[in-house]
Amino acid sequence: MKEYQSWGRVFHYEHKIRPVLWRDSDLRLNELDAPVLPFGLGRSYGDSCLNDGGYLLDARPLNRFISLDREKGLLRCEAGVSLAEILKLIVPHNWFLSVTPGTKFITLGGAIANDVHGKNHAYAGTFGAHVTQFELLRSNGDRLLCSPTQNTDFFKATIGGLGLTGLILWAEIQLKRIESPFIEEDIIKFDNLDEFFEIAADSEEAYEHTVAWINSSATGASLGKGLFMRGNNAAPPFAETPHQPSDLQITVPFDAPDFVLNKATMRALNALYYGQQAAKIKHRLAHYESFFYPLDAILQWNRGYGKRGFMQYQCIVPYDDNHRAIQQILEKVAASGLTPSFLNVFKTFGDYPSPGMLSFPRKGVTLAIDFANEGQATLDFQDELDRIVLDSGGTGGYAAKDARISPAFFRAFYPQMDEFSQYVDPKFSSSFWRRVTGRRANNQ
Ligand SMILES: Cc1cc2nc3c(=O)[nH]c(=O)nc-3n(C[C@H](O)[C@H](O)[C@H](O)COP(=O)(O)OP(=O)(O)OC[C@H]3O[C@@H](n4cnc5c(N)ncnc54)[C@H](O)[C@@H]3O)c2cc1C
Repeated sequence: MKEYQSWGRVFHYEHKIRPVLWRDSDLRLNELDAPVLPFGLGRSYGDSCLNDGGYLLDARPLNRFISLDREKGLLRCEAGVSLAEILKLIVPHNWFLSVTPGTKFITLGGAIANDVHGKNHAYAGTFGAHVTQFELLRSNGDRLLCSPTQNTDFFKATIGGLGLTGLILWAEIQLKRIESPFIEEDIIKFDNLDEFFEIAADSEEAYEHTVAWINSSATGASLGKGLFMRGNNAAPPFAETPHQPSDLQITVPFDAPDFVLNKATMRALNALYYGQQAAKIKHRLAHYESFFYPLDAILQWNRGYGKRGFMQYQCIVPYDDNHRAIQQILEKVAASGLTPSFLNVFKTFGDYPSPGMLSFPRKGVTLAIDFANEGQATLDFQDELDRIVLDSGGTGGYAAKDARISPAFFRAFYPQMDEFSQYVDPKFSSSFWRRVTGRRANNQ
């Protein structure tokens, strides 16, 4: 039997599973004997897609396309369709997702429920900013058509609403025109944090997509060194042969033994990745697959962290605090004694308001760091990071990633959670929501 897990593989919960086969089914959610939660492709890292002891409404069978307006770029499909399936349909018609996260193996419903962000936040905001309407099924059987002009309160609460306001049955999104499936990409090596911020500022105007990888083991004058990737959609004719992604997909077949990803190997991986590029700047014409989804080429790479799983910490700190908070965080990470992280992503968020009541992104610099699960030490360490983030006026507790934030920190980062609570369906709940609100399974 398939185990329903989240990406970090830290939690092993028992669920009752209800696949949702048809969008017009009478699901009689009210009659179920435990709380329910929609489930997409389980690409959330922590427990926001889990519902210990309750029901998961598996939305993947809702995988039908409804319509595509090829002139206007309006796509309507059921909520269980994945971004990978959408791309297969739309790219040949010169359309692309207006916003995409770092994996295409997520569902449309999951993208809305976490109001996910991509590498172009300053240009396009979050995924929810391009949702034109959706249908929401409540546990009492009500079906609400939600848009910026209809049921607007449920529209705002459901975007970034963590699956708690009801089940999204289908949604319509505005796509973005592209000239080709390729990206004109620069990869620039930077030696420290100051240089990262200089390149980020220089790239702001001219590049739609920007992201950086940093070496979390670097210290002193090299603190925050890494590789900066920036790019724009490329228009033919091309002066060079585009770099095509390999069709080869590697699958990690079993849990890595602990000795594979230990402190020494992680440090070596960090050094290797940084050192792979000798030149200061490299230019290439990259396929969108390798530019947006480099990790998707290794299926189930999450098994590389071994049986105990891993956690991802993501925060946003102010852009204009002289890099104080980000420097403190990186110094703490390097000195922590925890297994160094390999996946450390650094991005800037623009001044683009998120449409969701509980959405995570806001203007600032966001850092995402993976931590192998080393038990209490990993949990305590992330509390320390939360303290730095809070003191800086930033935000933590991104529900798509979080597996451990305390109720007090969550409330401090999301004071709007009480307003949001009014829209939570009385039958819907999640392990995450119970943890951060301190409520029990019956929402009491
Ligand atoms: C390699 C990798 C890279 C990532 N990169 C990014 C990134 O760059 N930016 C970013 O923002 N996130 C990123 N993520 C996180 C990921 O995009 C989100 O967690 C996303 O929400 C997962 O979607 P899913 O379909 O797997 O949903 P799940 O993880 O199964 O569920 C996520 C939430 O959506 C709700 N939900 C699912 N379907 C429905 C529905 N039909 N109706 C209502 N609610 C629903 C669930 O209840 C849950 O609260 C990344 C994840 C991975 C593994």
